[in-house]
Amino acid sequence: HLPYFSLSNAFARPGLTPRYSHYVKSVNNSPESRPAILKVAVNVPLSRAFDYLPPAGCPAPQPGCRVRVPFGARRQVGVVLGHADASDLAPGRIRRCSEVLDDEPLLRPADLGLIRFTSDYYHHPIGEVVAAALPALLRQGKPLHPVVETVFATALAASMDAEALATRAPKQAELLETLRDAGGNGMEADELTALLPNWRRAATGLFAKGLIERGEARAADFDESLVPAGTPGPELNKEQQAACDRLRDSKGFAAFLIEGVTGSGKTEVYLRHMQDVIETGRQVLVLVPEIGLTPQLVSRLRKRLGIEPALLHSGLTDTQRLAAWRAARAGAARLVVGTRSAIFTPLQNAGLIIVDEEHDPSFKQQEGLRYSARDLAIVRAKRLDIPVVLGTATPTLEMIQHCRAGKYQHLVLPHRAGGARPPHIRLIDTGRTPATDGISEPLAAAIRRHLEAGGQTLIFLNRRGFAPTLICSGCGHVAGCERCDSRLTVHARRQQLRCHHCGHVRPLDERCSECGEAVRPLGEGTERLEDALRARFSGRRITRVDSDSMQRKGAMSDALDEAREGSADILVGTQMLSKGHHFPQLSLVGIVNADQGLFGTDFRSAERMAQSIVQVAGRAGRADRAGEVLIQTAFPDHPFWSTLIDGGYQRVAAEALAERETTRWPPFTRLALLRSAAHRHADAHAFLELARRAVEARADDSLRVLGPVDAPMARRAGRYRAQLLLQSANRGALHDALRELRPLLEQDPAARRVRWSIDVDPIELF
Ligand code: ADP
Ligand code: ZN
Repeated sequence: HLPYFSLSNAFARPGLTPRYSHYVKSVNNSPESRPAILKVAVNVPLSRAFDYLPPAGCPAPQPGCRVRVPFGARRQVGVVLGHADASDLAPGRIRRCSEVLDDEPLLRPADLGLIRFTSDYYHHPIGEVVAAALPALLRQGKPLHPVVETVFATALAASMDAEALATRAPKQAELLETLRDAGGNGMEADELTALLPNWRRAATGLFAKGLIERGEARAADFDESLVPAGTPGPELNKEQQAACDRLRDSKGFAAFLIEGVTGSGKTEVYLRHMQDVIETGRQVLVLVPEIGLTPQLVSRLRKRLGIEPALLHSGLTDTQRLAAWRAARAGAARLVVGTRSAIFTPLQNAGLIIVDEEHDPSFKQQEGLRYSARDLAIVRAKRLDIPVVLGTATPTLEMIQHCRAGKYQHLVLPHRAGGARPPHIRLIDTGRTPATDGISEPLAAAIRRHLEAGGQTLIFLNRRGFAPTLICSGCGHVAGCERCDSRLTVHARRQQLRCHHCGHVRPLDERCSECGEAVRPLGEGTERLEDALRARFSGRRITRVDSDSMQRKGAMSDALDEAREGSADILVGTQMLSKGHHFPQLSLVGIVNADQGLFGTDFRSAERMAQSIVQVAGRAGRADRAGEVLIQTAFPDHPFWSTLIDGGYQRVAAEALAERETTRWPPFTRLALLRSAAHRHADAHAFLELARRAVEARADDSLRVLGPVDAPMARRAGRYRAQLLLQSANRGALHDALRELRPLLEQDPAARRVRWSIDVDPIELF
C-alpha cells in the first residue's frame, strides 16, 4: 500500500476522474467572494488534485502560487490550481496549508492551462506534470529569487604570495586563484562545484588561514546583454526569402514545417524571423534536441542576434537554471533556448516558438511523464495564438501528413545555400568486398583518397564499445546480462563487459565461463573502428565521438572545435556526430554496418533509418567541397536503398506514408501503449490483462486492443516486461478509454505488484 493512501485527504470516488479544466471556471479573482477551498497539485503519482484550506487567517493564495501542505506524515510543496467552494471531504477533515510560498503566482493561467492539457492528454498525474514544469529549486520550495552561499577571497589573499602556495598545496592555490579572478563578490558555491568539484576540501585550509570567506547573496540574475551587437547574415536566396515572407505574413497561430536539405539555410530563415519577432518586443522560445551536442547553434544565435540566450538544459547549476527561468517568466530574456522540458517555461510575452530538428527522438521523454515537447510546442503556440516553426531535413511522417492535410504550412528549401552541391551516395556490397574490423577495402581506399586531397572523413556507426558480443571460440557461448535478455558489450579501453540496458558492469572474461576455452569479441563498435583506423592510417589524427569518450565536461565542444578547424583527419562516432554540426573540411562520410534498420520490426524502422542516414550524409560537402557518402551493406538489393538513393528522403517518406495508410499505422491511427514490469512474469501480464478487460468492457469497435504480450526485451534489470497496445482511428475514443482506465488502474491492488505506465503517441513500440 502506498503510505499516503489512508492518511491523505480521502480519495476521489472510484471511476470519477477529475478533469482539471473545471477548476479554471471556478476561479474568481475578487478577494471578497473568493471561495476558500484550494485545489492543490502535489507531486505524487495520483491523478487528482487535493483539497486544502489556506493557512489560518490568510487569504486564499491565487492559482499558480506554491503552498506547503501536510501530506500524510510529510510536508510537500504543492501548486494551487484553482479555488472551489465545495469539497468531497467533510468540512472538519480538510487540512490547512502550513505556508504560502509565493506572493504572486509563479505560473500564470496560460502556464497552468498548458500543464492541465499535458496532464489530460498524456493521462499523467497533474502533480507530477507541475513538478516537471518547475525548476528543481522551486520544486523544493526555495524562493523564486533565492539567497545562495558565496565564497570570496579576502583582502589578506590579495597580498599573499601565490607561488609558494602553489607548490605546497596546489588544490588550494587553484581555488584561491579562481576566487581572486572572480573579484570582490566571489562566486556562488554551486558554480564553484561545477568548476572544481572538490573545492570544499581545499577550502578548509584557506578558511583557516583567513584567505577566503563565506558569504550570502541574492543569486545572480540572468544578463542578456553580455554579448556584442549582432552581425548581419548572408543575403537570402529566393527560396529562403519566400519562406521568410510566408512567416512574416502569417497572423496568429500557424504551424510551419520548414523542410530543407542539410545546409539549405533553414537556420538562416529562423534567424531572420526571430529577429523580426524580437524587434516587436516579443520573446522567442527555441527548442533543440541536446544543447551539449549543438553548441554551434547557440553561438550562432548569440552572434547573429547580439543577444545572450537564456539557456535551459541539464548542464547548468540549479541556480543558473532558475535564473534563466526567472528571466523568461519576467520577460527579461528575449531569447530562450532549451531542451525538451523548456517547453514548460513561462514566458511573459511569447511571440514565436521554434523546434529545431523536429524529427529528433529526444523531444519525446521516454520515462515518467512521457510527453513530446514537439507536439506540446504546437499545442502551446495554438493556445497562445502565435506561430510555431518546425525545421528539419528529414521530417517525421506525422508532420508531412499534417502538411498534406493542409493543417500545417510546408516550406521547402530544396537546394543547398551558397552553392554547395548535394553529396553523392554509393553502396559498398560487403558480400563481395568483406569488411575487416568494420572497414571494407573500397571504404579504406576512399578514405585514403579524401585524406590525400586534404578532406576530412567521418565514419559513422551507431554502436559504442569495442564489440557488441563476446563469444567463446570453443562452445559458442555468448556472454549475457544476468538481469536482462541481452548481450554484454565489450569495452576494451576499460577491460569491461557492460550491459547497455541496465548498466551492469563486470570485468572482461578471459576464458569462457561455461567451458574454459578462449573468448573473442564479435562484431564491431566505435572503439574497434577507432583501433582499425589507427592501424590503417597511422600518423593521421583520429577522434572518436561517442558517449563514452565525451564524458568530460566540455569534451564535446573541444572535439567539435577540432573537427571544424580541420585538425582531426578522421572522426569516428555515433549519432552524436550527426546532429546539426557543420564541418567545412568534411568531404567523405562512411556508414558502417547500415543494415541494423533494414529488417526492423517497428513500423517506424524505415523512417528512422532514412533519417539517420540522411542526417549523417548531410555532414559531407557542406561548403565548397563536393561530398561523397559510402554505405556498407550486406543487402545492396534491398529496395530501401534504391528508393533512398534515387528519390532521397522524400521518396522514402512518401512510400512509408502510403504503406502506413494501407496498414493503418500512425499518423493514420492513434496509439497508446501500456507497459508493465514486475519481478514475476505473471504479475506483469495479469495487470495488463486487467487493463484489457476494462477497456474491452466499455470500448466500441473503433478501438483495437492488442496484447498483452511480452516486451521485445522481455526481461530488463531483473524485471519481466509486458505491453498492451491500444489503437484507434478516432483520437477521442482512445482518450476516453484512457481517461476511464487510469483511475481504475491506480486503485487496483494488482498495481502494487508492478511498475506501469501509459505512453500516448509512443515512438518506440518494440
Ligand atoms: P541548415 O540549417 O539548413 O543546415 P544553415 O542555415 O546552417 O542551413 O546554412 C548552411 C550554411 O550556408 C551556413 O554556413 C550558412 O551561413 C550558409 N548560408 C545560409 N544561407 C545562405 C545564403 N543565402 N547565402 C550564402 N550562404 C548561406
Ligand atoms: Zn542488463
